[in-house]
Amino acid sequence: AEELLRQSDMLSAIGQLAAGIAHEIRNPLTALRGFIQLMQSSAEDKRYCGIMLSELDRINLIVSELLLLAKPQAVKYQQREVGSILKNVLSLLDSQAILNNIQIHTRIAEKLPPITCEENQMKQVFINLCKNAIEAMPNGGHLRVEAEALDKGEVRIRIKDTGCGIDPERIPRLGEPFYTTKEKGTGLGLMVSRRIIEEHGGRIAITSEPEQGTTVDVILPALAG
Ligand code: ADP
Ligand code: MG
Repeated sequence: AEELLRQSDMLSAIGQLAAGIAHEIRNPLTALRGFIQLMQSSAEDKRYCGIMLSELDRINLIVSELLLLAKPQAVKYQQREVGSILKNVLSLLDSQAILNNIQIHTRIAEKLPPITCEENQMKQVFINLCKNAIEAMPNGGHLRVEAEALDKGEVRIRIKDTGCGIDPERIPRLGEPFYTTKEKGTGLGLMVSRRIIEEHGGRIAITSEPEQGTTVDVILPALAG
């Protein structure tokens, strides 16, 4: 019975997702269509082209976030050191952090037990979470990234910001497809991240204090050392 329940949960989640995708993709397409119509009779080409390009970028972003849900071409689960994945991700985000006046602090425990993961998916999760942290600090702040081993043969990666925080009543909605509070958000990052972490046998926990900041913990099973 429990298995059946889980299946019907999943079917309704997929239905909700499909309806959301249709809606989200139709919006930018409608905008594009309108501007192309306008362009047939106007000299304001430049402005319209700018809007069309940003709508196209939006479709692209939505589709690429969704593609992460699909299994990668060749799923390659490998033994990896979470510290080096995190350092790699942070180097990608460095310029964005500097531009936003954000200081990055890392505290990665020495001799962490390795994890088994699909490296690209795992990188994508940490990119999503760090980007959310950076986007929560439009006026600058501190981004802390920590990794340590827990007792129960697990590794905990903690991503902590000093940003706007999340109202308690909004916490249950996080990870719902297309739930976003950002003008240019897709509301897919947390859903995709949670899916990936659950497929790796792990979990994500979010705690937040409005106006103070947010802490996101990713807990993953580690290989016995
Ligand atoms: P997006 O970033 O496109 O909005 P996400 O799924 O990544 O979509 O996040 C969903 C929502 O969760 C965000 O719009 C934001 O309201 C909230 N959120 C996620 N991470 C944080 C954070 N670190 N600080 C504050 N709010 C956050
Ligand atoms: Mg996001």
